[in-house]
Amino acid sequence: MNILVTGAAGFIGTNFVNYWRERYPADSITVLDALTYAGNRSNLEAMLEHNGFTFVRGSICDYDLVMEVMQKHCVDTLVHFAAESHVDRSIDGPDAFIETNVVGTHTLLKAAKKLWLDNGGGNGAGDGSANKAGSARRGGHHFHHVSTDEVFGTLAGDDPAFCELTPYAPNSPYAASKAASDHLVRAYHHTYGLNVTTSNCSNNYGPYQFPEKLIPLCLVNILQGKPLPIYGDGKQIRDWLYVDDHSRGIDLILKRGRVGETYNIGGNSEYTNIDAVRLLCQLLDEEFSENGSLRERFPDGPCAALDPASSLINYVTDRPGHDTRYAIDAAKITSELGYTPAERFPGGLKKTVRWYLENESWWQCILDGSYRE
Ligand code: NAD
Repeated sequence: MNILVTGAAGFIGTNFVNYWRERYPADSITVLDALTYAGNRSNLEAMLEHNGFTFVRGSICDYDLVMEVMQKHCVDTLVHFAAESHVDRSIDGPDAFIETNVVGTHTLLKAAKKLWLDNGGGNGAGDGSANKAGSARRGGHHFHHVSTDEVFGTLAGDDPAFCELTPYAPNSPYAASKAASDHLVRAYHHTYGLNVTTSNCSNNYGPYQFPEKLIPLCLVNILQGKPLPIYGDGKQIRDWLYVDDHSRGIDLILKRGRVGETYNIGGNSEYTNIDAVRLLCQLLDEEFSENGSLRERFPDGPCAALDPASSLINYVTDRPGHDTRYAIDAAKITSELGYTPAERFPGGLKKTVRWYLENESWWQCILDGSYRE
């Protein structure tokens, strides 16, 4: 495959290209990333040494650039992660979300249609309808769109989990922009025959996550002795998906997913936000009690004195329109493609804690801003 991965200098995209390179070293990977505040080029440093890996800095909203990159690298598979992804930022300033998530996705679709369908491109199937019964790769091109469970809105405690047929009801500007992009992807399949698939996944966690999201924010705050901000009563429920399980789910969809279909990818790990943070605190307490050198490296947090990290928990005013519960029913991808998450939250969180402890320079460069130089 000649894959174009958008947004791979961000959290999930970085993990995805690492996953892909390890398993499929013969494939060529091109990354297109605008390096917004959420993009970190150093994530891909080791990757740049490989033949068949190319990094292009630029926006998915730039049609000419997208066309040039896709043509130059003979792209036959596009995995689309690039987005504005933080709900709080979408509340403060929705414009960038509309631009990147809606206009940017449409720009990629337009370019893919032009090259793979209109021009024949050498990669295109021409008539997507011929592929409806089979795998998304049958036509030789494949556009996979990465979306979120937030498009489905919110659940009450005893509601059944979101399935692929749950009606869309996005509540934040972020979720609405992702919902709009999902609809555009669907329309390019039904109208023009583009070979598309979409995945809607739950909250990811793992290495390389920008420390503005709940898990890495609380993790680095514990190490620095800073408060752990918990919205409202902290009882909001989320399903937690270890990032490598997400990559595996996308891998299965790229290989055997049915064209035009959407697949939910979940972690089978529902936790309230406060329980997730309490578990994180407990894991750090354990790491510090077992490892004296951590107490020397991170003297500012309570763990250095073997006091509980949970003493930093600080309830703050709830986010406007905060969704109560998200839960994923992943039965479709499980029965059709054999997906099950390998990690449950406690195990995945322990790995994540270890990664942040071992990669302090990675997050320190973000905190002091030097990652953008
Ligand atoms: P992220 O914010 O960590 O990374 C986004 C990347 O996109 C960054 O590298 C950024 O530089 C790049 N980018 C932003 N605007 C761009 C543009 N105009 N052109 C090119 N690149 C641009 O995001 P993430 O957490 O890795 O999320 C990846 C995808 O997964 C997103 O589409 C997001 O909606 C979706 N998703 C994420 C989660 C999660 O828990 N993180 C859950 C569900 C779905």
